[in-house]
Parts: sequence; structure tokens; C-alpha cells
Amino acid sequence: MRAALYLLLLSACAGTPKREPSSTTKKTDGPTAPLALTYLGVAGWQLESGDVTILVDPYFSRPNLDGEIKSDPAAVAARAPKKANLIVVGHSHVDHLLDAPAVALATGAQIMGSASTAKVATSAGVPADHVIPIQGGEDYQFDGYSVRVIPSLHSALDDKHFMQGQPITVLPPKTFDDYTDGGTFDYLVRVGGREILVTSTANFIERELVGVHPDVAIIAPGLREQVYDYTCRLMRVLDYPQVVYTTHFDDWRAAPTDEEPDADLEAFVDEVKRCSPATQVIIPKHFVRMSAP
Ligand SMILES: [Zn+2]
Repeated sequence: MRAALYLLLLSACAGTPKREPSSTTKKTDGPTAPLALTYLGVAGWQLESGDVTILVDPYFSRPNLDGEIKSDPAAVAARAPKKANLIVVGHSHVDHLLDAPAVALATGAQIMGSASTAKVATSAGVPADHVIPIQGGEDYQFDGYSVRVIPSLHSALDDKHFMQGQPITVLPPKTFDDYTDGGTFDYLVRVGGREILVTSTANFIERELVGVHPDVAIIAPGLREQVYDYTCRLMRVLDYPQVVYTTHFDDWRAAPTDEEPDADLEAFVDEVKRCSPATQVIIPKHFVRMSAP
């Protein structure tokens, strides 16, 4: 089963762009601070604006996934920033959650995620006041930024329903199979006058995104061919964001290396261009800090 899951973890569009009446999401009058984005590999990101640093699914250890799995302190020390405000975790699979508790401890960040994510963080020693369990629908104000939690779905694994939403029951989780997804969330981060939609896997609940019109969208392409009209439907409901960064496209079992885009990633870029011609699509390189347009 593990081999099949690996394979499926590895790795759709029609319709004409149409402007819709304006958003229920209140936007500010434009950026008030520069935004820097750094791709950390797999579904990991570092977002920086002013003195706010938010991490998404930081996964630095890249362990051998057969047998017992542990966060690697040297990898965390090498890649985690000195300080961070918040870590958001999209779901509790190993390639999203493994290092998040250690990174929270190293940076002083709070960690936000499903009940499974919260339990794993607590069991790893993250203090309770630094753990924010979410159910979806929350919209929390922090000092200098806010985060709306958007219920979502995992990408289509194993005939589309493999362990969707199953909680983690082994604490602390030790093996690949212990890290069930625990429920999947997207996050709308508002900071420095921008709105950034962060997704961690290639699926979404369209009605949950109505009125969510981000400036920047971080979007996963893998297995989208199993989701109806994925790319155009997503661009349309997001009101055609100015910039899309691709995520979760590298080889999550190997060391982080910048490869030439494969055919599937290139096809995704073409789909975005077709569905949303004004959107700029950026395929990030690992650990390169980029300024948002
Ligand atoms: Zn996953």
C-alpha cells in the first residue's frame, strides 16, 4: 500500500474568464509594505512583510520515509528563520507536518492547524499557548496581520477518497502511515495591505472560496486532472489573482533541487495563462527570496 500511496502522492480546464461583481473580502488600497516569499520546498513557504514572518508547511528534514521518521534538528537549524510569528499547516501528512513543531520551538512561532496537527505539536513539546487548533471558518486577528481559515480538501488520492480527513491516532506519529491528513485547510493571510491565499494540495471547495479574491495565490498542481475543471474554476472563483506561485511540485521524497519544469507543471502554467491571461505564474526556486510584484 505504501508504494501505491507514494506514487499517488507524487504527482483540469474550460470556460471563459468573466469578471464578477466585487468581492465580499475587503481589500485595502494596495500594498503598504513589501512582501517577500521564499519557497522552502514541497508545500513550504516563508512569507515576510514588515516584521511579520509566517511559515507554511516547513519541511526541511526530507527523511527516508520507510521505517521510523524523525525531524532532523540540523536541517531545521540550517533552514528555519531565527524568528517567526506563525506556522500554518495545510494538513497533517508527514511532508507538511513533520518539522512544524520543531520549527515552532526554534522560532517561537505559534502553530495553527487541524486537531491532529495541534495534538502532534503539543506532544512534541510546543506550549499550549502556542498551539491554535482550527476547524475551518475561523478568521483571527493577530498583531499586524490576520488569517482566515478556509475549509478545503486533499488532492485526489487513491481513487479519490483515500483516508480523506482521517485524524492522527498515534502520538507521537512515527511512520509514514501514522501521518494521516487530519483534515485540509487553506489560509488567507492578510499582511502589509496584501491578501495571500495559501494552499498545500491540489483541491478546493468552491463555495468556501466565494468572495476570496487574493492578490497572490499559492497553488498546487499535482493530480488536478482528477478534479473537475480545476484550474479555470479556481482562477474564476478567486477573481483572477495578479500572481500565482506554484507549490508542491518538487520531488518530496528527495533532496530539494531545482529541476526544469516537467510536462505536467508546464501544462498547469499554460492552463492558468489560458484561464486567466493577466495572471503572472511563477515557478519558484528553492530558498530564493522573491519580492511580490
Ligand atoms: Zn498530503
